[in-house]
Amino acid sequence: MVEISIQYTDENQKHMSIKRLAYDAFSKIYCLYITHQSSYRNGLRILLYHSVDSRLPHDSYGISIAKNQFERHIHELMNMTSFLSVISLQHIDRLNINTKLHIAITFDDGYRDNLYIAAPILLKYKIPFTVFVTTSFLRSNSAFYLTIDDLKELSGLEGVTIGSHVSTHKCLTTCNDKELWEELYGSRCYLEDITGKPVKTISYPHGSVDNRVCNMTEKAEYKTGCCSMFGINNQYNDKFLLKRTEVIKTDTVDDFTCKIYGGWDWYRWKQEIFETKALAKTKKG
Ligand SMILES: [Zn+2]
Repeated sequence: MVEISIQYTDENQKHMSIKRLAYDAFSKIYCLYITHQSSYRNGLRILLYHSVDSRLPHDSYGISIAKNQFERHIHELMNMTSFLSVISLQHIDRLNINTKLHIAITFDDGYRDNLYIAAPILLKYKIPFTVFVTTSFLRSNSAFYLTIDDLKELSGLEGVTIGSHVSTHKCLTTCNDKELWEELYGSRCYLEDITGKPVKTISYPHGSVDNRVCNMTEKAEYKTGCCSMFGINNQYNDKFLLKRTEVIKTDTVDDFTCKIYGGWDWYRWKQEIFETKALAKTKKG
């Protein structure tokens, strides 16, 4: 059963809830269609989280998930390990991702709760994860974001990979070449200086990426880049346009399972049509 409580406080929220119900219903049907197609389901599915258990003033659609809900998701993931494995993004070059379903967990922006709330839960289950950090947030002195000391501590934890989420969280497709280089290369060097470890993966803020951004990302010596398009990745994917499946506050365990199976992959069609006109269909195309 889909568990959604509808409590309208204004017209906008009412509209969002009805839209979410429609999306859920469509996803359940789509999930039924693809559940038994292992050839479709196998590959690398990268989950995209942001924050866990923080009351973010800028959270307009549920990027901060409650701690108990996050725990339920992770517990469910552990129940599914007979047919999937949870891996680190660091190791994707060495895996044949087509043979079974692989899951990687990522967090965008660099929220402080990633260290204090999410990490203890993930460490308990020995689940590796990647945190993509925006360096200006790191220096913002905001209580919501990791500090430099927090980042040092986080990067030293078992199974944690630090990636870049660029310097200023800009839409990269709007940057000129000089700005783009600073966002990509500057953030990588800054994070490497703090952590003392190589930073080889990046996620593009706002999912904003095109051929020029991909090419410059490769020049800045990254090995992989994650966008915000829903979907699963196989060996033929451009490694600078890795798809991710976003998980948000309203996702019940049923919704989470549905997303793991690919039941929400249809959402990419909506993203392609309405949200990311700038996304390149192929890196060099
Ligand atoms: Zn972001």
